[in-house]
Amino acid sequence: MPKADPQRSCLACRTVQDKGELLRFVLAPDGSVVFDLLQKLPGRGVYTCIRSSCLQAAAQKRQFSRGFKQEVHGAQPDALHSQVKERLEQRVASYISLANKGGKVVSGSDQVLDHLKKGGSGILFVAEDTSPDIAEKFRGIARAHNVRCATLFDKERLGALIGKELRSVLVVLNSGFIGSIGVELEKYRNFLQEERE
Ligand SMILES: [Zn+2]
Repeated sequence: MPKADPQRSCLACRTVQDKGELLRFVLAPDGSVVFDLLQKLPGRGVYTCIRSSCLQAAAQKRQFSRGFKQEVHGAQPDALHSQVKERLEQRVASYISLANKGGKVVSGSDQVLDHLKKGGSGILFVAEDTSPDIAEKFRGIARAHNVRCATLFDKERLGALIGKELRSVLVVLNSGFIGSIGVELEKYRNFLQEERE
């Protein structure tokens, strides 16, 4: 049995949860608020739910200064929202790159279509700037084969992650990366409070 996670409360709504179910923030030496994705940075930590609304409410109510018991910088609602969103995206991005290095990515419309139609598994990524009808076509086929979908990054970034030109779609194949990517995607969606597939 893993050791029980200590519990902390959200700066905004005060809900008490396991630390791992919250976002952790620490203070940098210059007094700015830093999102501690891996919950390993030293020093006092303060927490919010994995929800942008709690994070922004905490910032608006100046709860970061209260929590750290000093004046803090960089705790504007928008700045914190962007910081967390970018870190969560980077995390997913780095797993896609790693999977690609391990030969566990299929990309390119034809190849992805082929993979999905053969009943392929994995997680389908659709670039945010893919035209809606094409995006929906891929999502439909993925759903029909019980392949999980995520709409994330633009074509340029999706391609760059695997060392290629623009990519509208790619699939991370079943591998050790799938579980981790799933966890990170879940966090990302929770944070943005998204319902979309
Ligand atoms: Zn909360």
